[in-house]
Amino acid sequence: MTAIQGFELRAGTTTLAPVRKECPVLSPEDVLIRVAGCGVCHTDLGFIHDGVRTRHPLPLILGHEISGHVEDAGSRHRNLVGKAVVVPAVLPCGECALCRGGHPTICAAQIMPGNDRDGGFATHVVLPGTFLCVVPGAGSDPDAPLGSAAGLTLRHLAVVADAVSTAYQAVERAGLARGSLAVVVGLGGVGTFAAQVAAERGAVVVGLDVDPRRRAEAAKMGVGLALDPREVSGKELRSRVAAFAHGAGAPATGWTILECSGTPAGQQTAFGLLVHGATLMVVGFTLETVAVRLSNLMAFDARALGNWGCAPELYSAILERVLAGKIDIVSHAALKPLSSITEALEQVRAHRADRRIVLVPGREEVP
Ligand SMILES: [Zn+2]
Ligand SMILES: [Zn+2]
Repeated sequence: MTAIQGFELRAGTTTLAPVRKECPVLSPEDVLIRVAGCGVCHTDLGFIHDGVRTRHPLPLILGHEISGHVEDAGSRHRNLVGKAVVVPAVLPCGECALCRGGHPTICAAQIMPGNDRDGGFATHVVLPGTFLCVVPGAGSDPDAPLGSAAGLTLRHLAVVADAVSTAYQAVERAGLARGSLAVVVGLGGVGTFAAQVAAERGAVVVGLDVDPRRRAEAAKMGVGLALDPREVSGKELRSRVAAFAHGAGAPATGWTILECSGTPAGQQTAFGLLVHGATLMVVGFTLETVAVRLSNLMAFDARALGNWGCAPELYSAILERVLAGKIDIVSHAALKPLSSITEALEQVRAHRADRRIVLVPGREEVP
């Protein structure tokens, strides 16, 4: 019988503790996945440090950005055994009114690993098999090269589970048109991928970030103009962006503004960039409030939308683009041993990680 080794959050603690459990008997709907990689997300830090409650009572193994191999499966998913998969960060029920109405990521009956059940900061994870995204062309070696992107392995694809897919659905839902202007506010985590997805769709992309390292990297994400919103703001920012759009042949209207910073300042900046026919897509999260003149939406015939996660049915299209090298994740992901989880979480918390950290179970941890 397989033992699962991982790191769990216990009540009243702010570090994850190593744990070893027996693998449960699989229900017909469940599969056992040997984890290839699990990305570290700010949501995990929220559970550990900010008092955000996991839906499953503690102790719980965290981690919801998972790639791996299906090692065993209940009767309904025997066809998945041996397959390499990416696990959508939200596994919806597929049947309720929200699921049928195009909002599966907020399905009340959803399973999110590391929230509703033990997650991927472990050697193995047990999850429902229905919405797993099979990685085409992947063999049994998690370190084997995949697709046409240099250095890409199944381990890196963990990042697709949440960061890349959230960005993808946000751009998709905003209806970003080829040749139009996209402004990405905040080029960290999700923002780096939002910029790439927007550029891949043929948009002209402007990126705003206070971090000079990110602005220096922005061109590689398809960003044509990168600005520091602390240096250029208000009307001056609008006119700089408008001048750039004009020079790049993009219309002065119908901009798509993707707020990925999750900061009050970023949200103010994003709202201030509304033009006629614009779409403001809120992707980042903050508990803070901002004061805005909401009537600008009316005056500009603009819309403001939110995006939470990504529907499972979009994952294969995302994987296709990643495998074809159209969305680069290798240079935005750093593989680290699962045993270094405490240090990795601290790095992310202190904003010292310039790439998405993917934790990889080592040989010593795999029984
Ligand atoms: Zn996440
Ligand atoms: Zn549902």
